[in-house]
Amino acid sequence: MPNKHSKVLHMPQRTCAVCKSKKDLDKLYAFIIIPEGIIIDPRRRLQRRRHYVCNDINCLSNLEEWEKRYFKKHYGINKSWSELDLQSINSVQGVNNGQ
Ligand SMILES: [Zn+2]
Repeated sequence: MPNKHSKVLHMPQRTCAVCKSKKDLDKLYAFIIIPEGIIIDPRRRLQRRRHYVCNDINCLSNLEEWEKRYFKKHYGINKSWSELDLQSINSVQGVNNGQ
């Protein structure tokens, strides 16, 4: 449980992986990287190293490029946008549309 003093009005901030701007946590989606691709984890339930991306169509659509660079750098492979990624992104965009 958080302690009694932690009635924080100030949101913790994280940096968007795509545009590198700092934003409040509630303006960002958490996602994790697995070898198969990206999984968006809006409720932040998955216990893995998280990255963040803006709740914003521009950053979401640039996530593909970011992911390619990430895989190149960390795994040394050229990766294409997978089915898994598409499902993940579509589900987030569905949330944005209020569906
Ligand atoms: Zn961003």
